[in-house]
Amino acid sequence: MDQIIYRGRFAPTPSGPLHFGSLVAATGSYLDARSRRGEWHVRIDDHDSLRVAPGAIESILHCLETLGFEWDGPVLYQSKRRPAYHAALHRLRQLGPIYPCACTRKEVSDSAIAGVEGPVYPGTCRDTLPPGRPARALRMCVQGMRIDFHDRLLGPQHLDLEREVGDFILYRADGVYAFHLASAVDDGEYRMTDVVRGADLLESSARQIQLLRLLGLPVPHYVHLPVAVDQHGEKLSKQTKAAPVDPTRPLLVLRAVLRFLNHTVPDDVAEATVPELWRYAVDHWDLLRVGPRLQGRAVD
Ligand SMILES: [Zn+2]
Repeated sequence: MDQIIYRGRFAPTPSGPLHFGSLVAATGSYLDARSRRGEWHVRIDDHDSLRVAPGAIESILHCLETLGFEWDGPVLYQSKRRPAYHAALHRLRQLGPIYPCACTRKEVSDSAIAGVEGPVYPGTCRDTLPPGRPARALRMCVQGMRIDFHDRLLGPQHLDLEREVGDFILYRADGVYAFHLASAVDDGEYRMTDVVRGADLLESSARQIQLLRLLGLPVPHYVHLPVAVDQHGEKLSKQTKAAPVDPTRPLLVLRAVLRFLNHTVPDDVAEATVPELWRYAVDHWDLLRVGPRLQGRAVD
């Protein structure tokens, strides 16, 4: 295998157009990769067709292009990776830590203990399915699992998966592979060396590290950037109807994202061309300047 020095990616979910929050992740991962002369890939997280909004993939790619992002190789579509996820699930089943679960979402939330991201599954079906109930999902058993990893920005991270996350879903009976499984398999099989994304995915990373280790795939380095929030402290997302990025004013948009990441651009550069702005940003990128924050106010 060829020697990879740095390989990073941006993996948007096409549930709507790009907004400021996702652009922060795109910019952070792009600058981190390019400042280390690494590769940068775009991967569309479209494996759950119910979450794909019409026109969103084209809109995201068009927006990235207009803003001057240049990616290596073809765009990867997770919807075409089902055989790989299936094989990974099969491998995990052979290894033993997954089991079928019949619980409905409501049953889980009624019986659950609160975790970092919502209800922690109480382990109802761990030993056996309740009689006469069909399996609705496959879950990963995390009994006794603790994950330690180093975030290049936030420092040492520790997560007790059993207590704080609980047995999590890898596959739903309606044919959808979970985000954690798809993301871990792709990062591992495509040999990503560095994953740079929002701090809202910190707990996801712990789960994905666990999956990568079980599957014998390489575990990337992680960076979790501050999550952009609005004036009410709410995360900008498609759910909170965050305004889409306006690609017709690329310099303004990129400057705002850089400012959010605590990088300022001199006026003459900010009024130059998009490639010149990127050249400056790549040359002056310093991850540690972003600071170990979990969130920050979005800049207009
Ligand atoms: Zn269950």
